Amino acid sequence: MKRFIYFSLFIFILLPAINMKAQNKTSNNPFFTEWDTPFQAPPFDKIKTEHYLPALEEGINIKRAEIERIIDNPDKPTFENTIAAIEKSGELLNKVSRVFFNISGSNSNDEIQKIAETITPQLSKLHNYIYLNEKLFERIKSINDEKEKLNLTPEELKVLDNYYTDFVRNGIGLDAVKKERLKEINKELSMLSLKFGNNLRKETNALALIINNKEDLVGLPDAVIQGAAELAKHNGLEGKWAFNLQRPSFTPFLQYSERRDLREKLYKAYLKRGNNNNEYDNKDIIKKMISLRSEKVKLLGFKTYADYKLVKNMAKTPENVFKFLFDLWKPALEKSKREEREMQKIIDEEGKNYELAGWDWWYYAEKVKKAKYDLDEGMLRPYFKMENVRQGAFDVASKLYGIQIVKRDDIPVYDSDVEVYEVKEADGTHIGLFYTDYFPRSGKRAGAWSSSFRGQSDMDGKFITPLIVNVGNFSKPTDNQPALLSLDEVHTLFHEFGHALNGLFSKSIYPGAKRSPVDFIELPSQIMENWALNPAVLKMYAKHYKTGEPIPDELINKITNSQYFNKGFEAVEYLAASLLDMDWHTAMDLTNIDPIQFEDSCLNKIGLIPEIASRYQSTNFNHIFGGDGYSAGYYGYYWAAVLDADAFGAFLENGLFDKTTAEKFRRFILEKSGSDDPMNLYIQFRGREPKPDALMARFGFNK
Ligand SMILES: [Zn+2]
Repeated sequence: MKRFIYFSLFIFILLPAINMKAQNKTSNNPFFTEWDTPFQAPPFDKIKTEHYLPALEEGINIKRAEIERIIDNPDKPTFENTIAAIEKSGELLNKVSRVFFNISGSNSNDEIQKIAETITPQLSKLHNYIYLNEKLFERIKSINDEKEKLNLTPEELKVLDNYYTDFVRNGIGLDAVKKERLKEINKELSMLSLKFGNNLRKETNALALIINNKEDLVGLPDAVIQGAAELAKHNGLEGKWAFNLQRPSFTPFLQYSERRDLREKLYKAYLKRGNNNNEYDNKDIIKKMISLRSEKVKLLGFKTYADYKLVKNMAKTPENVFKFLFDLWKPALEKSKREEREMQKIIDEEGKNYELAGWDWWYYAEKVKKAKYDLDEGMLRPYFKMENVRQGAFDVASKLYGIQIVKRDDIPVYDSDVEVYEVKEADGTHIGLFYTDYFPRSGKRAGAWSSSFRGQSDMDGKFITPLIVNVGNFSKPTDNQPALLSLDEVHTLFHEFGHALNGLFSKSIYPGAKRSPVDFIELPSQIMENWALNPAVLKMYAKHYKTGEPIPDELINKITNSQYFNKGFEAVEYLAASLLDMDWHTAMDLTNIDPIQFEDSCLNKIGLIPEIASRYQSTNFNHIFGGDGYSAGYYGYYWAAVLDADAFGAFLENGLFDKTTAEKFRRFILEKSGSDDPMNLYIQFRGREPKPDALMARFGFNK
C-alpha cells in the first residue's frame, strides 16, 4: 500500500543486460568479495559510492551470460535446468542492486542518482533480453505444458507460473504484427501516463485561492496561516496568503475556515483538477488510454482490461470485485447519511439557514470530533516516544511468536540514525537482521516503507537469512525532547514492522516465490496495526517520556471512542472511486465516450450523495491513469483490510496473544505468502474464507 515499496522484487523483475566493457575488478571493491561481517551483512563501512557501478555492470554481464547458458543447454528443459537455474542466476547483480536501490531511496545524493540513471536503461535492456527471448520462452513453455506430470510442489508451480505468465503478458506468444502493435501501445500508454501525471501535478500545485485580507483567514490555526504565507511568498506574493490543491494545504482550509464561500471555491477547484479545458486537461488522455488498454488486452485474449489485471490478483474476476464493493457500499452509505444528519443538526443549532454541502463536510466533521470525543493529538504524543513504540512492536511480536529481538552494535550501518537488531527464535536460532531508519534526512524519499538488503532463500541446501529494513520519516528528536510520534506514525511503525516480520519469517526455497498480489500484500502489515492501539497493548508500551507513567485510561477511552469517527464518509469516498475505476476498466463500448458523462452516470447509478464526492475524479485519478499499478486495483486496499480485520478476529476469538493462532498465522501467511495461492493460504490459517463482517464492525457500519 502507500507505505510499502517492494524495491527488491521490482529489481528482480527488471533484470536486463548489455555489452560490457572490461571491468575493473579491484580487490578493494567489497561487492567482489565475500563479506566477513556478522551474518554477511553489507559492509557499509567499506562500501563507497564508486563501488556500485562496476559491480552493477559486471552483475548484469554475468546474469546475461548465465541466461545464455540456460538457453544453450542441449538437455531437455526441466524445472531444475531452466526455472531453478534462472532463480539461481544473477547472484552478484542481486547482491549489489539490493544495497544500491535501498541506498538510492534512503541515503541518496547526486552521484547516486547519476548511477541510477546510468544503470536503469541497462537493466531494462536485460529485462527485454530475458522477457522477449523466444528461445528461453520455448523452454519455459515446454515445462509449463507438462507441469501436471512433473510432480512439482505448490511453490515450484507458483514460480513456474510467474515466469510463464510474465512472458505471455509481455506478448511473447503473439505473431510479429501483433507483437509490434503491442510494443507501440505500451510505449504510447507510458507516455500518456506520464503526461497525465504531469498535468495533474501542475493543476494540483496551482494556487487555487489567494487571500489578500487577514479577516478572510478567520478560523484557521496559526500553523496553517504560516504555511499559506510561505506558499504565497514562494510564488512572489509576499504579504498575501495562498492555498493550492495539495492535501496539506487544501484539507486544513476546509476543516477550519469559517468562510463558507471560500471553502466552496477551493473545494470546487479541487474536484475540477484535470478538467478545466486548458493545456493541462486530462479528458482526451483518459479516452485514449482506455481505448488503448482495451485494444492491448484484446490482443492478449482478454475481454476487458479488468479481466486482464484481476486474473493475477486474489479477486480473480471483475464480478468478484463488484460484489465485494457493493456488499460494503450500502452500509457505508447508510453510515455516511447518519454522519450527515449529525452535522446538519449542528448547522441548525448554530441558527444557520443552509443544507450541508460537500465543502462543509470537513468543517462540521471537525466540530463533531471536538464536541463528541474531546480528542487532541498534543495530549497523546508524550506517550509515544519512538523508542517506546518500537519496543511495543517488538514486544507484541515476541509475545505472539516467542522470538527475541536483541540490539546489535557490531553491524555496519550507512548512517548514525540506523539501528540494527538480531531476531532470534526462543531457542536462540538466528532468524535474520532488522534495521530501523526512522528519521528524515536529505537524500531520503518521503513516506515509509519496508525493504531488504537480502531476501531469504533456501536453494541447494543453503539457507540464506534475510536482512530487512524499515525506513520512515517520523517526527525527529529536538534539542529538548526525544522523538514523540503522532498517532498516525504509531500506526505506520507497526504497519512497516508487519512487512518486516513477513520478510524475516519467510520460508521459501526460491527468491521468485515472494510475489504477492496487490490485494494480499498488505495483510501482514495492516494486521499489526490492530495491536498498536489495543488498550492492553497501549498499557505495555505507551509510557510518558518524562515520568514513565503508563497512558491513563481516560486517554485510552478517548482513542477507543473516536474509532468510528467519520468512517462512513471515508468508506463512501473510497468505494465510489473504486467503483469508478472498475467501471472504466470493464467498459465495453468505447466509441465517443465523454469522460465526465461516463463518471456522472457511474456515480449516479450507485446513489452517491451530493455531499460526498468520489475520492478522485477521473481527470485526477492518478492511481489508475498516472500509472498502471492500481488500475482495476484500487479496490485492493479494502480487500486486504477485509483480510486483516477477519484475520485479527481469530486473535480476538482465541486471545490477543494466543500462541496457536499466532503459530498458524506465521506458518501459513508470514512464511508462505507468495509461494502459494493466497486464498489457499488464508483458508489454511483461518479454516474458512474471509468474511467482511469484521471490517464492517471496524468501520462501525452496524452502529
Ligand atoms: Zn504496507
